[in-house]
Amino acid sequence: MSTDLGITLAEYVRGVASGEISCEEYVVATLDRIEKHDAKLHAYVSVDADAVEAAKGVDAAVRAGRDVGALAGAPFGIKDNICMAGTRTTCCSWMLEDYVSPYDATVVDRLSGSGGIVVGKTNMDEFAMGLTTEFAAFGPSLNPWNTECVPGGSSGGSAVAVSALECIASLGSDTGGSVRNPASFCGIVGYKPTYGRLSRYGLVSYANSIEQVGIMARSVEDVGIVMNAISGEDKMDDTTRRDVRSGADHTPDHIADIDGGVEGMAVGLDVDSFDESTDVGSAVRRAADAFEAAGATVTDVHIDHGPSSVASYYVLTAAEAGSNLARYDNLRYGYDMPQEGYEYNAYISRARSRLGPEVTRRMILGGFVPSAGHAGKYYLKALKMRDALSAQVDGVFADGNLACILSPTVPVLPFKFGEKIDDPVELFRMDSNTVLANLTGRPSISVPFAMSSGLPIGVQLTGSLDSDAQLLRIANTIHASSESKGAPQL
Ligand code: GLN
Repeated sequence: MSTDLGITLAEYVRGVASGEISCEEYVVATLDRIEKHDAKLHAYVSVDADAVEAAKGVDAAVRAGRDVGALAGAPFGIKDNICMAGTRTTCCSWMLEDYVSPYDATVVDRLSGSGGIVVGKTNMDEFAMGLTTEFAAFGPSLNPWNTECVPGGSSGGSAVAVSALECIASLGSDTGGSVRNPASFCGIVGYKPTYGRLSRYGLVSYANSIEQVGIMARSVEDVGIVMNAISGEDKMDDTTRRDVRSGADHTPDHIADIDGGVEGMAVGLDVDSFDESTDVGSAVRRAADAFEAAGATVTDVHIDHGPSSVASYYVLTAAEAGSNLARYDNLRYGYDMPQEGYEYNAYISRARSRLGPEVTRRMILGGFVPSAGHAGKYYLKALKMRDALSAQVDGVFADGNLACILSPTVPVLPFKFGEKIDDPVELFRMDSNTVLANLTGRPSISVPFAMSSGLPIGVQLTGSLDSDAQLLRIANTIHASSESKGAPQL
């Protein structure tokens, strides 16, 4: 088999459009690789064999001289909480085991409209709650760099699929780091845009006011290519926005300036987010040095994120999840439960017993924190903390000089399965660097930068609102000096 599955999306698209790469061969090789490795890695929960027919169509279009779109038959993995007409969208929950989406999410619609081919739906923590895929109802995904370690989550399957060359790029969702965290653990690029840049229509809601669809790929340019294809205003999602800074009625180009470098830019180093004596912390310091070598200035910034950001994140997301997941009562959405008696409370609690431990924990918390008598102490307080965090971040970017904030994506290296599963608060703390961007709507990206003990380390860059194109340019620069290259040996 000569097909090189490790190329970037940019290389692939050029190759297919010029006829040098056969889309059919690449897609068949991708499906073969899934067949060979995925029984072990479990990146996918379903695979679409029709992808080969779609690929043949792309090759035929190239031969006929027709436009094959910006994504030119590139094979994608899509997180299983994003709807695709006629396919199962289980959110990796027994509750939705047989649920078939009646429509396409806008991001899926735009992806296929630009020529992308979905090869399968990817594994995740149940309803996107978690950060290891250990809460995935059908079993976890394994980290391809070391299969004893977690791949990160909740979009763990989407990250494993890109890292293990089981697709060229993927979509996930990022409520509190679920795209960036697994990207960091699996050694790929993971990007969460400014809130409202990507439509959430067809993304199964966990915490609407906080989450975004995110993009995972092997290069920053690839992320920009996908962003150009799928971002922008959507009539089906009122929270999507135009490029408000320029007032233009089009979305910005995310790749035009991607090679522009960082000469003269200022990078803020979030000095309280890491400990330089650790492997992760020293990698962040070296990333700061690499920025200076590339012509940027690095200045220390102080953001007081913890524990207030993690605490307010978990209160707000639980409250939104409690309301969003109320529909899984086996009356509106559910599964084929034997009908034995109809006493309301007994029925609902029996139906909900299908939900796993983490989702149950969040729903109980989500009923409590906004409830009468407690809201002031929890939910309303968390809203205030969110505003205060936004004001802090605004303060950091206030003089217009700072281009982004640099921190680790996750404070630790990928850890072993079972290591933190029994301590929910310890797991919550792993989100300490990522939730800031979600709570404040800012764009943020994880770039693979270093390796330690054979495991990847990602650094995180967070930008100001709507600075997405600039953030990708900065990320592209640091990725060029990354110490980690290549794919894991399977
Ligand atoms: N770990 C976070 C949580 O469990 C992040 C989840 C996410 O981004 N979907 O809520």
